[in-house]
Order: sequence, then structure tokens, then C-alpha cells
Amino acid sequence: MPTSVSPRHRLLAWLSPDAAGAPTVVADHDQPARDSGRGAVHRRLYDDIGEFLFRNGLAPSPTNFAVAHAYISGEDWDIAQAVAAHIQGGAPLLDDDVARILETRAADELTPEALAQLAQTLESGLVDYRLMIGESRSNATHFGDELDREAANLDSDPAGALHRIVTITREAVEKTRLMEEQLQRSQREADQLKADLESARRAAEQDHLTGLPNRRSFERHLREALAADGPPPTLALCDIDDFKQINDRFGHPAGDRVLKFVAGFLEGQLGKSALVSRYGGEEFACLFRDADTLEARDLLDAVRERLGARSLVNQETGEAMGSLTFSAGVAPVEGDRTAQAFHDADHALYTAKRSGKNMVIAAR
Ligand code: GH3
Ligand code: MG
Ligand code: MG
Repeated sequence: MPTSVSPRHRLLAWLSPDAAGAPTVVADHDQPARDSGRGAVHRRLYDDIGEFLFRNGLAPSPTNFAVAHAYISGEDWDIAQAVAAHIQGGAPLLDDDVARILETRAADELTPEALAQLAQTLESGLVDYRLMIGESRSNATHFGDELDREAANLDSDPAGALHRIVTITREAVEKTRLMEEQLQRSQREADQLKADLESARRAAEQDHLTGLPNRRSFERHLREALAADGPPPTLALCDIDDFKQINDRFGHPAGDRVLKFVAGFLEGQLGKSALVSRYGGEEFACLFRDADTLEARDLLDAVRERLGARSLVNQETGEAMGSLTFSAGVAPVEGDRTAQAFHDADHALYTAKRSGKNMVIAAR
């Protein structure tokens, strides 16, 4: 007898812990926080993703799941846009389409393949350098030996020895010139490689929409702050209130512009007091190196008030968009317990949301 299994159950069964991806320093933050009520949100997300996969007849493969997650959660705007465009075009969304969408997205990212390519260029460049230095050394020794030999012949055959000395000197000068050209070529390649590596490093650490440091970069800064001497840093998680409504009312491109505006506003207002990063969709993480939890809360609360006092205008249409607020949770990072700090800040953020939004709450 066929049993009816809900999409969510099938998806949960399929999602083994192995499929969850590599852990990060804040892995705890990624787990459903059952005590903070986010579990229900995650559950809904699983349902929606399952619905989406089954409605489109897509196999529950990691690729399809990744794209469905990006589309439903809105966490990857490029993927969401590509899927929306495909669906609007009226064609069915097939496994191949999904794979293509993911491939196109991956082409913009710093992939292990791209890194391997850079490393390969670097390695062969180093080999060339070593060969060149070895060759130049043996040329110099060879030249010295030949000069010595001909110098010994100067008494017996001065004209012949002189002629040969001129010839071998000319040859040595020519070899040096070629070597010099080759060195200059290598220098140019090394400069290009350095620039490529630098832009790869930037791309890997920057959020492409807002230009802010991304989550990876934030976590690196956090690790560095913990390794440095000084007071324990403070973490804040800010989440724009009712951001979905902005998208729904004014469209996603306007939503994108609002995100960029908020990113610049947070960064500009907090200045040197905090490192601001885009941590996810409409969520920003701030790292205060020299402020304790209450000081950070007050700084952020002042920014919240100033943002709320602004009236936004849709630049495309001139339409008034009203004002915008955010909620935030602030928590200390004690010892190296980053996962705990993220959990505490997230919990405080959730309390702020549940208590009516547009507020900054300090943990404990
Ligand atoms: P809350 O006050 O509870 O935080 O409500 P919310 O609407 O802000 O939160 P929710 O999580 O329901 O929706 C967040 C929305 O943010 C959904 C997603 O489409 C949108 N979003 C995420 N990333 C981007 C992006 O890069 N661009 C745009 N335009 N929207 C995004
Ligand atoms: Mg959010
Ligand atoms: Mg929000």
C-alpha cells in the first residue's frame, strides 16, 4: 500500500549531516536554533524548498537543493533572479537548467579550480626563475673559464687570443641581453600574477552587491581580533525589518538599492568603531573591537534612530518608500567562544524582532 510522505519528510531524510557542507568557525549559528524559535522558520524553509523541487519535478540532488534554497531563501540574489527569469519565461525548469544556473553563478566566484590555476602559474613561474638563475650562473662561470684560458695564450698567440677574447665577450654580452629580456618578461608575468592574486583575494572576501566584507572576511577579522591583544570584542547582528515588503512593493532592484544604501549607512555611521559586513541576505554583522556590549548597543542604537529618521525615495521612479528600520542583537565574544557569541547575538536579535522590531537588544 503506498504511503503518503510529505515533501518535507522526504527532504529531511535525504539531507544527511554529510550533505550540510564544510563547518565554519560559527557552525553553531547555522544549526536550527530550537530555543530561539528560528526552528519554525527553518522548517517552513524546508517545506517550501521541498514544494518547489516536487512541483518542478526536480530530483532532490545537491545541485537542485542548492538552487532551490538560494531561490526560496533569497540569500543569493543572482541565482534567485536567474530562476525567476526562467520561470517567467514559461519554460519548465529542468535539472539541466538548474545545473546551468549554478554553473553561471560559479563562474563569478573564486573556485578551487581558479585558485589551482593561479597556483600552477605561480609554480611554473618559479621554476622558470630557478632555471634562469642557474643558466646565468653557468654562463658566467663558462665565460670566466674561457677568458682565463685565452689569457694564458696571450703570450704565445697574442693576435689569435685577442680575437677569441673579443668573440667570447660578444657572445657573453648577447647571452646577457637575452637573459635580461627574459627576466623582464618574467617580471611582467609576476606583476600580472600578483595583481590577479590580489583581485582574487578581494573577490573572495567581498560581497558583490554592497561591496562590504562578506561573511568569510568577517569571520577572518573576528579570528584576528581574538588572536590580538586587547579587550574582548563585541559582536552585533543587524537584520532589516520587514525587508521582504520592500521587495514586494517596489521590486527586487529597488530592494537591492536599499540594501546597498543600508550597507553604506551602517559603515559610514559606525566608522572606525566597528567593522561592518554583509552576513547574509538582509543581515549585517558588526565587529566592535573597542566597545563592550553596552557601548556597542548604544552606538548601534543611535545609528538605528538616525536610519529611522530618513525618508527613502525610489531613485528609479521618484516614489517615496517611507522609512526603514532594523533590529539588532549584541553580544560579547568571550574567550574564543565565537559560536556562543553568534548564538547569543542571534537570540537577542530574535527577542528584538518578537518585541516589536526597530530596537537593539544586548544579550543577558
Ligand atoms: P523581519 O522583520 O522578520 O526580518 O522580516 P523580513 O521581511 O525582513 O525577513 P524575511 O526573512 O521574511 O525576508 C527577507 C527577504 O530579504 C527575503 C529575500 O528575498 C530578501 N533578500 C535577501 N537577499 C536579498 C538581495 O540580495 N536582494 C534583494 N532585493 N532582496 C534580498
Ligand atoms: Mg533576515
Ligand atoms: Mg529582516
